[in-house]
Amino acid sequence: MALSQKYRMTHQRRVILEELKKVSSHPTADGVYEMVRLRLPRISLGTVYRNLEILSGCGMIHKLEMGGTQRRFDGNAKNHYHVRCIRCDRLKDVPVEPITAIGDALSGNIDYEIIGHRLEFIGICPQCKKEGQNFNKNVHEMDRKEK
Ligand SMILES: [Zn+2]
Ligand SMILES: [Zn+2]
Repeated sequence: MALSQKYRMTHQRRVILEELKKVSSHPTADGVYEMVRLRLPRISLGTVYRNLEILSGCGMIHKLEMGGTQRRFDGNAKNHYHVRCIRCDRLKDVPVEPITAIGDALSGNIDYEIIGHRLEFIGICPQCKKEGQNFNKNVHEMDRKEK
């Protein structure tokens, strides 16, 4: 009884969950707050933070705590992997099924009870790749002008 009360779906919490599930950008808590505020203008950032913690605590969303500087949230609660752009920190799902055998490879070799794993690919997103090419082109043109 106490548990269901603690995790009861308040209106605010439902809106936060709905908004987070709409996007694939893996927003920060601030980003979620900006989205939710359009529907609930009086909600506070603290309330959004608290509800994100509760939702991730009961497994309805994912809290992503790898690599980047700020904690990000994911409305997709299924186990899946991400690729992070090392230039702009953009985080995207990758079309790869979770590799369950990676846990089997470890079992028996460590005295931990393994409950899962996290995997993040790193790379350069198409946009940053394009900007990098433009940057190189500009430098090249500047070189030519100087000659
Ligand atoms: Zn990028
Ligand atoms: Zn994701």
